[in-house]
Amino acid sequence: MKTEDSPSNKTKPFKAEDSLKDIVALSKRRGFVFPGSDIYGGLANTFDYGPYGVELLRNIKNEWWRTFVHSRDDIVGLDSSIMLHSAVWEASGHLKSFNDPLIDCKNCRARLRADQYLEEKHKISTIDFDLEQIKEIFRQKASEFSCPQCGNKNTFTEPRQFNLMFATKMGSLKDTEEMVYLRPETAQGIFINFRNIVDSSRVKVPFGIAQIGKSFRNEIIARQFVFRTREFEQLELEFFCVPGSQKEWFDYWLDFCSQWLYSLGISKENLRSRQHETKELSFYSDNTVDIEYNFPFGWGELWGIASRTDYDLKQHSKHSKKNLMYFDAARNESYLPYVIEPALGLNRLFLCILADSYRIEKPNTKEQRIYLKLDSRLAPIKAGIFPLQKKDGLLEIAQKIYKELAKNFTVDLDQNGSIGKRYYRQDELGTPFCFTVDYQSKTDNTLTVRYRDDLRQERINIDRVSDFLRDNLANG
Ligand code: ATP
Repeated sequence: MKTEDSPSNKTKPFKAEDSLKDIVALSKRRGFVFPGSDIYGGLANTFDYGPYGVELLRNIKNEWWRTFVHSRDDIVGLDSSIMLHSAVWEASGHLKSFNDPLIDCKNCRARLRADQYLEEKHKISTIDFDLEQIKEIFRQKASEFSCPQCGNKNTFTEPRQFNLMFATKMGSLKDTEEMVYLRPETAQGIFINFRNIVDSSRVKVPFGIAQIGKSFRNEIIARQFVFRTREFEQLELEFFCVPGSQKEWFDYWLDFCSQWLYSLGISKENLRSRQHETKELSFYSDNTVDIEYNFPFGWGELWGIASRTDYDLKQHSKHSKKNLMYFDAARNESYLPYVIEPALGLNRLFLCILADSYRIEKPNTKEQRIYLKLDSRLAPIKAGIFPLQKKDGLLEIAQKIYKELAKNFTVDLDQNGSIGKRYYRQDELGTPFCFTVDYQSKTDNTLTVRYRDDLRQERINIDRVSDFLRDNLANG
């Protein structure tokens, strides 16, 4: 696949790169993730999720929705449009300030983010700098700075701001065409529906609106597999609270989100919280913490928890000229609620889950075994069903079990290759249990259950297989 931005990856330690490579290879081999537009040579940094990837994504979304929406009485859902009125982005500030500084190499045409270049190559932090100051550094050091791709010195263009929103046109007739943007976050769709939701449902502050959906950012450098892409999916919550209570709710949501990650089995030592320094905060935020994961290429943001004040509702009130004040009957007062936003990237969580669950037992030996130690709620397949042979009626017994289980569980009937190969495949898919139907099954109506993690095997009655899954999958 074509990659336009690999130079900085080359400098990463060998082992870390290797484990990302292993995950990318497993993803392709087992149908989790394919390179986008693969048969046409690939389209840089786009990815397609295969049969097992799509199940894993769906299970993550379902678990999130169950925990953040269905099991709470203070959060409701929404599915807003990807294309919103341009005025939304004017009001939110995205048209003016959703920018990254960009530089191009005049020699090899490599395109880089100026701030990342300064930080990664020259250890110059740009948190405090505006565009003019970044330009000044490039002016002063032009003769020293070299392009990481071609190695040539003094070949960079002057840094310029690049808006990350994808623009497109709406309408087919030229004179009615209107410029619209693909949303770079799902949050604004929530803010502009605040009034609709308050008026149509029984929500009372404090309450939240949750949304899962695609977002688009024309990232200057997309990289590290599905970590940073231009099309991605977000799971966002906007939690509206009484002004003054935002600190308390911020701490609550930071803890709630962390606990949810732990409950999925993600190891605590690979997670950490990073508080944004005051100078690093977005202009609308009075507090932000990133939950970071120790990805194979290093620590990176997984989940941003931001205290957004009443900035968004205030801006939309002003620009739309609609009253977005909330009347709080219990307090007998009207106010614009403050907002806590936990914003999670689905594809980053997907990568985090693959990396965290990836295990190699007895590496580089004949008995090497690779498996994904996935929480059973997330596993794409809950059980593999294998007839030892296709003949002598064993396949028919396995098919009957498959039909019965498929009513309630995602299961896989695999009749090809040796049993060892079938186990190997299910291990790499993270399937927690495998059921093998053999000759004994015909005489005593039992089969073998094999546990993914400790390889334990035991025989259970075929009539109990459904109950077995119900009991053993329940707690994940
Ligand atoms: P970064 O600093 O990595 O660019 P961000 O701070 O701009 O991320 P937010 O605007 O807080 O990200 O978005 C919320 C979440 O959406 C992030 O924590 C991340 O999980 C996800 N996300 C953001 N940009 C991308 C992207 N280009 N590809 C995949 N996921 C993304």
